[in-house]
Amino acid sequence: MIAQDNDIPYLREGGKRLARVLEAVGRATVPGVSTDTLNALAEKLIRDGGDKPSLVGYTPQGATRPYPATICISINEEVVHGIPNENPTVIKEGDVVGLDCVLSHEGRFVDSAITVVAGNTDKDTQDLLDATKEALMAGIKMARSGNRVGDISAAIEAVGVRRGYGIVFELGGHGVGNSVHEGPYIPNVGDTGKGDVLTEGMVIAIEPMFTEGTPFVKLLSDGYTFVTKDGSRSAHFEHSVLITDQDAEILTQVK
Ligand code: MG
Ligand code: MG
Repeated sequence: MIAQDNDIPYLREGGKRLARVLEAVGRATVPGVSTDTLNALAEKLIRDGGDKPSLVGYTPQGATRPYPATICISINEEVVHGIPNENPTVIKEGDVVGLDCVLSHEGRFVDSAITVVAGNTDKDTQDLLDATKEALMAGIKMARSGNRVGDISAAIEAVGVRRGYGIVFELGGHGVGNSVHEGPYIPNVGDTGKGDVLTEGMVIAIEPMFTEGTPFVKLLSDGYTFVTKDGSRSAHFEHSVLITDQDAEILTQVK
């Protein structure tokens, strides 16, 4: 969306609410908990706030059925769009767990993802998470009016290359605000100075995904879950941001 003045307070409030939901679900992601329990928690928190979970019932382009859950939960080699409530998984010690959710607050949509480790972490795991988050922040830094989509993509790619991770290039970010997915597409690899020009008021979701192995992914037969082709672990971080003529405003954080 190109946010108008009257959209911005709702985007900010919705973003803050989504950040709180993800924080709470992240804290609840401990060894022994089931993914359908986490999904139910996300749904309860969103509905208690008076908002709508936007993923459940949503059919993305190319999908053959609506997504069945409130939150996507993707564990270890699962990259994105894992389904938490059809064949629930019990989280194990050390699992790398991606939590990705969209809500709408007063009709405005915000999208965010975090990756957490269940129980104790170790250096390799923490490096993977830190690098992916670093790439997100590097992408956000390039997100300002007058820059191009490729400036964001190139910044994400540079972090992945420097830190030695596989950069998932078949999936990426997108416009958001009026619906779950809008244009423009925001690739996770690309060239500076290429692509659509960013303009003030645009709301976009930036979402790098890194892997410990090769960057290739495949779709499982459930029609949603993307896994790494080589079985390596992956991480995913995402923010919805508002483009201004200064640094982008991160909407999906607890201020
Ligand atoms: Mg998302
Ligand atoms: Mg997204």
